[in-house]
Amino acid sequence: LQSTPVSTPSKQNKSTIDYKKEYEKREIDEKPQISLVVIGHVDAGKSTMMGHLLYQQGVVSKRLIHKYEQESKKIGKSSFAYAWVLDETGEERSRGVTMDVAHNRFETEHRVITLMDAPGHRDFIPNMITGASEADVAVLVIGASTGEFEAGFGIGGQTREHALLIRSLGVSQLAVAVNKLDTLNWSQKRFIEIVEKMKQFLKQAGFKDSDVTYVPVSGLLGENLISKATDPQLTSWYNGPSLIDVIDKFRAPQRPIELPFRFCVNDVFRGQGSGISINGKIESGGISPGTKVIVMPAGEKGLIKGVESNDGISNAEFALAGEHATLTLHGVDIMKVTTGSVICDIDNPIRAITRLQARVIVFNIEVPITRGFPVELHYKSVHEPAVIRRLLSQLHKSTGEVIAKKPKFILKGQNALVEVELTRPVCLEEYSSLKELGRFTLRYGGSTIAACVVTQLLR
Ligand code: GDP
Repeated sequence: LQSTPVSTPSKQNKSTIDYKKEYEKREIDEKPQISLVVIGHVDAGKSTMMGHLLYQQGVVSKRLIHKYEQESKKIGKSSFAYAWVLDETGEERSRGVTMDVAHNRFETEHRVITLMDAPGHRDFIPNMITGASEADVAVLVIGASTGEFEAGFGIGGQTREHALLIRSLGVSQLAVAVNKLDTLNWSQKRFIEIVEKMKQFLKQAGFKDSDVTYVPVSGLLGENLISKATDPQLTSWYNGPSLIDVIDKFRAPQRPIELPFRFCVNDVFRGQGSGISINGKIESGGISPGTKVIVMPAGEKGLIKGVESNDGISNAEFALAGEHATLTLHGVDIMKVTTGSVICDIDNPIRAITRLQARVIVFNIEVPITRGFPVELHYKSVHEPAVIRRLLSQLHKSTGEVIAKKPKFILKGQNALVEVELTRPVCLEEYSSLKELGRFTLRYGGSTIAACVVTQLLR
């Protein structure tokens, strides 16, 4: 049997390409990509607004909207036509509730936006978390109609919960869409009332005033979404940006191009010849053919022979942080690379750990979380059994200050610092060093019970 030469490896592990320079060039040439999550109380109008916005942006065809209009009329809920743009299954439609995170992309003048729809139903919070834990920025939708803002803003309302949650997960820029103002003849008084209350709350929650913009809109009528307001009742007092103008001005996240190479594997398949093809996302650094890498947690070393960028450019010279790419890897047994593996810089691999400390935000869970509580850790495409080993402290929801040390249990709605232990090693980073690999969720009995950020890798 003839062994395939793994390579004629150059002494040099590193590519001679200056990834940072290429990244900066690209920043000038191309529109930056931003992931956006839409949050807010149930029925605030999230789906309708984003569906209408996608329609106005030309992402959705007239024909499709027409079809949805016909179908929604049939079931007597004609206002749902736009919301259906974001809903994919018939079940969601007939219930009139968005159940899963649907992804959609659209472009503004200066940005490419990946949209993650966030369902507002209480039971469905878990789905929103998936979107929120990967979001760069958020649109918070508020139903302004009489009594509705109050319901969402009150105790147990999701306006507060969602805002606190995304802030804890690292989102700092926010557009607040004050929706359904059409039901109040575009009352400026109501707009100001809501803005004042939200300002106070969001400041406490840790958002900077300058990073939050308030926009009066009607998702249903499509007013002030992508073009300047036209309703005289609104234009009589409002001359500010439309929702899309605000989205277009979100600062693009700086991808960690200078950090060591990290590539999270989504999919593995046998490639041509002796190599394997791995599909995934570059979370930090850059990669080019001829680079030696190490696969974690397996610890197997190999050589990258080919790079295909997400734009479908095969034989790419390189691919950079933030990009989805397919790499051809040589010299590694296919059994050692799985979904959840991280391909790393050979001199600076990610740690594979079984114990970590995390800040957790607990959702609506009926049983209290106690020491020894069994959970499932979810992160990117990884699902691993884990246990809550220690409850270190209960934290204040917005300031993060310690409220109680060594609590006996953690209840729904609380924030806490805990130690999590896994059965098998996983590759995570501390949130402070690489946010992209420092967030995860915990599940129990089939539902998501907490969103978490890694505060310390233990062992
Ligand atoms: P979600 O649960 O936040 O996704 O809310 P939906 O988009 O499903 O909207 C909930 C309800 O509010 C539906 O009946 C919509 O037709 C209605 N709605 C949404 N936006 C507006 C708006 O701007 N004005 C009015 N009058 N109704 C709206």
